Amino acid sequence: MFQDITTLLLDQKAFKYTVDIFVDRYRDKKISVVAGVEARGFIFGPPIALAIGAKFVPLRKPRKLPGEVISEAYTLEYGTDCLEMHVGAVQPGESVLIVDDLVATGGTLSAAIRLLERVGAEVVECACVIGLPLVKGNWRLNGVPLYVLVEPR
Ligand code: IMP
Repeated sequence: MFQDITTLLLDQKAFKYTVDIFVDRYRDKKISVVAGVEARGFIFGPPIALAIGAKFVPLRKPRKLPGEVISEAYTLEYGTDCLEMHVGAVQPGESVLIVDDLVATGGTLSAAIRLLERVGAEVVECACVIGLPLVKGNWRLNGVPLYVLVEPR
C-alpha cells in the first residue's frame, strides 16, 4: 500500500506542524547541511534547512545534476538504483541531516549516508515523516540514528 504524503501538504497547519517538529529537534544541533533525497525529500528538506540556518543539498537520481557528481548505488527489490551529489557541495567535517518522506527497508537512506561519509561529512541523523514497520529493530542505519514521526500499522 503506497503511503502518500501529498494530502498532508494540502493542510497548511499540518504541513507546518510537521516541519516545526523537525526544526525544534535539529535547531541547536549545529547542522550545516540538510541533504534531501529525491523526490519527496525535496519537499520537507528545504523548509527545515531554511529554519535551522543550514544549506540544502539535493541527492538526486542518476544524470539529473549538471555538474561533476559522486555516485552511490544501492539494491532495490528488483534491480539497482543510484543517488548522486555534486562534488564540492559538502565539505569534509560538515554535520549533515538527511531528510526523506519515508523509510521502508532503509536501503535508500543507507546509500545517502555512504555518499556523505565518502566526502568526509558526519551524518548526525536521518529524519523521515513515515517509518514503515518492516525497518523496525534496525533503526540505526550504518550506525546513524533514524527519527520518524509516524509508524503506520
Ligand atoms: P527504502 O529504500 O526501502 O527505505 O524505500 C524508501 C524510498 O522509497 C524513499 O525514497 C521513499 O520516498 C520511497 N518509497 C517507498 N515506498 C513508499 C511509499 O509507500 N510512499 C512513498 N514513498 C515510498
